Amino acid sequence: MRLTTIGTGTASPSPARVNAGHLVEAGAVRLLVDCGRGVVHRMATLGIDWFGITHLALTHFHPDHTLDLTTLFYAWKYGTLPQRTAPLQCIGPPGTAAVLARFAELYGGAMSAPSWPLEVTELPRGAGLDLDGGTRLDTLAVPHCEESVAYSIQRGGRRIVYTGDTGESESLGEWAHGCDVLLAECSLPDAMAIPAHLTPARCAALAARAAPGRLALTHFYTVVEREDIRGAIAPQYGGPVTLTWDGWDIELEEH
Ligand SMILES: [Zn+2]
Ligand SMILES: [Zn+2]
Repeated sequence: MRLTTIGTGTASPSPARVNAGHLVEAGAVRLLVDCGRGVVHRMATLGIDWFGITHLALTHFHPDHTLDLTTLFYAWKYGTLPQRTAPLQCIGPPGTAAVLARFAELYGGAMSAPSWPLEVTELPRGAGLDLDGGTRLDTLAVPHCEESVAYSIQRGGRRIVYTGDTGESESLGEWAHGCDVLLAECSLPDAMAIPAHLTPARCAALAARAAPGRLALTHFYTVVEREDIRGAIAPQYGGPVTLTWDGWDIELEEH
């Protein structure tokens, strides 16, 4: 199983980071989780096979996680020849179909008439489903907005947990316990903490509870990058910490 962080930024414009989007490759599954602004072109920059994505999953509907859906649909239909014909499963919390319908109303074209079979699967928060070939996806409601979820993706004895956007949550730490990689948002400095997001100290508490094999941080507002993030994590979590960038990846050997 392989995780690639494609977009590690936020609504706070960064010269180095586009909005949120991450690729999980697990067997035949090529799952793009979130598709914020800039993710499609970043995939092209990184040489990632954007055409071969088999599944999409949305953590929530904020624009820094969804704005490039239209870009991606248009790329699949009009950006290359032949057009995409392979089926796509789009997974998300309740409301996902309505969001796609609004994009379709606004933009038409590939959004209203994709050239491939589009299956939309709305998962109640806390539900999961089996993807093709032994890959399991599960969700957990997280405190960020009405629909927001974290995702767990498991295959071959390996497990990746992505928090999506979240505030502090003890249940998230318990749910993620023992995962191989915990990809956690780290939006704001502790001095600017708000309930809807994590900070370095909150990431430290989350990692202490979850005890992942590796803590990978993402979703940085530019102000948090001036903080000593590693210094805030170290007293509570002694495992490896990665401050991810657009294009960081990690391969997890399956058992
Ligand atoms: Zn958000
Ligand atoms: Zn966000």
